[in-house]
Amino acid sequence: MVIPSIAHISLLASPGLGHLIPMVELAKRLMAQHGLTVTVFAVTTEANRAEDELLQAPALAWPGLFSAVVLPKVVEVSAQLEANAAILTRLLAMVSAALPNLRSSIASMKIKPAALIVDLFATEAIKIAEEFNMKKYVFVASNARFLAYTLYFPTVEKEVKRDEPFRIPGCEPIPGEDLLELTFSPSGRAHQDFIRISRDITAVDGILVNTWEEPEHKTLGSLRDNRFMKPMAKVPVYSVGPVVRMAGTVGSTKTKTELTEWLDGQEDNSVVYVSFGSGGTISTEQTMEIAWGLELSKQKFVWVVRPPMENDTAASLFNRVHEHGTNEFAKYLPDGFLERTHKVGIVVPMWAPQEEILSHRSIGGFVTHCGWNSTLESIVNGVPMIAWPLYAEQNMNATMLALELNVAIRPETKPTKRLVKREEIAKMLRRLMVDEEGAGIRTRAKELKESANKALNEGGSSFIALSKASDTNCFCCLFQPTIRAS
Ligand code: UDP
Repeated sequence: MVIPSIAHISLLASPGLGHLIPMVELAKRLMAQHGLTVTVFAVTTEANRAEDELLQAPALAWPGLFSAVVLPKVVEVSAQLEANAAILTRLLAMVSAALPNLRSSIASMKIKPAALIVDLFATEAIKIAEEFNMKKYVFVASNARFLAYTLYFPTVEKEVKRDEPFRIPGCEPIPGEDLLELTFSPSGRAHQDFIRISRDITAVDGILVNTWEEPEHKTLGSLRDNRFMKPMAKVPVYSVGPVVRMAGTVGSTKTKTELTEWLDGQEDNSVVYVSFGSGGTISTEQTMEIAWGLELSKQKFVWVVRPPMENDTAASLFNRVHEHGTNEFAKYLPDGFLERTHKVGIVVPMWAPQEEILSHRSIGGFVTHCGWNSTLESIVNGVPMIAWPLYAEQNMNATMLALELNVAIRPETKPTKRLVKREEIAKMLRRLMVDEEGAGIRTRAKELKESANKALNEGGSSFIALSKASDTNCFCCLFQPTIRAS
C-alpha cells in the first residue's frame, strides 16, 4: 500500500564546517521554497560544538521537517593514511568509512528519502543512493570555475605546467600556479581521487553549484554550451547560489556579546575582520607579522586567532590545532600586543560568529583565505576583501576576486610561498580601508551584493535555477508519496 506522506529528501555533507554549513543552508532552502522534508547526514571529524549547534537549531525550529543524523566518527581512518596524505584523500577516507553507517541509517528509516544530494567530496555515496533507488545529485559548495576544472581534469593528457595557464574550453584560463597541488602529481593518490570525483559527478541526475550568473556567466555559459564544456558535464548544471548563512536566520548567531557591543560602538566600514576560515592555520612567524601589520596600519580590527602551525595551512580542518589548547593564543602574539590594542581591536580565539560579524555595518574589509563560503558571505554583505589564499581552490578564488571581479586586493607576496611582512600587510590594510582604491573596491563589492540579492529573490536567476532543477528533475513528483508502508 502506498501511503501519502510529505516529500522527503536527504543531503550528505563531508567533514568540515565549510562543507556542512552550505549543505544545511541548502536544506533550509529546499524546505522553505519547495516544501520538502529534509534529512541532513553529516560526516564529522570530532565532537564539535559548532557542528552540533548548526544541526540542532533547524531541527528545533522545524520539528518533523528537518532532521539531522550525525554519522558516528570513525576513529581508525587516520591510522590507515600516510602522515602526509592530502586533504582530499583524508576527506574521502572519512566519507568512505562512514558509508556503512549511512547505509544502515537509510535502511532503518520508515520514510525513505527519495533523493540524495551529496557534496563534492562525498560522491562515493552515490552508489548507496542507487542501492535504495534514490535520485542522486551533487551540490558543489564551490564555484562554477572549480566545477569546470573538476570536470575537465581527467581529459587533460599533456603535462600541466605551473608557469602556463590551464585552458578550459570556453572559460577564463586559470594561472598554472593557482591549480590544486594534486594536479602536478599524476601518479599520486589525490590526483587519482580527483579523477574519480570528476567521473562520479557526471553520473548523477543534476549538479547544483553555489554561484550565480553575474560573477560567472562565462563559465556557466561554457558548462551549458555543446561547443565547450556541456559534453563533459553531461548532466544539467544549476547555479543556485549564493547559498550562505545570513545573520539572524535559524542556526546562526544573533546575540549581544562583548564583541557585538564593541562593533556597535564603531563607525561604519571602519573595522577590518581577519579570519582564515574553519580550517586555515598560519605559521608562528606569520602570526607575528599579521599582529604587527594590524598595529602599524592603525586600523580597527577583529581577528580570529588560532595556535600557529608550521608547514600546515589547513591544520584546523582536522582539529590538529586543538592539541595546542585553545586559550593560549596570547603567547603567539607580540609582547604587549593585547594591551596596546585593547581599544583598537578584538582578538577572538579559535572561532567567531562570522556571519554576524560580516553583516555588521562597522565592518569595512575582510582579510580572508578565500574559502568559497567566506567569499560569498563577504559578497552578500558588500564587504571588500584582502585575498590571502592558503589551500585547496583558494588561489583560483583569489585570482577571480582580485583580477576579474575587482572586489579584492591581494598581497604581492604569495602567502603560501613566503612570509608576508608587516609593512606589506599594513600597506594593504590602508589601501583597502583608507585609500581611494579601497573606496572603488567597496563600491564594486556593494554592486555584487545587489546582484546576489537579485539572483536569489523570486524571479531571480538562482531562484529560477532551483525551481528548474525541481521541475526538470521533477522534485515535486520525485518527492511525492513513493513510500510504501512496511
Ligand atoms: N566560520 C565561522 N567562524 C570562524 C571561521 C569560519 O563561522 O571563526 C565559518 C564561515 O562563516 C564559513 C565557514 O566557516 O561559513 C568556512 O567555510 P569556507 O568555505 O570559507 O572555508 P573552509 O573553512 O571550508 O576552508
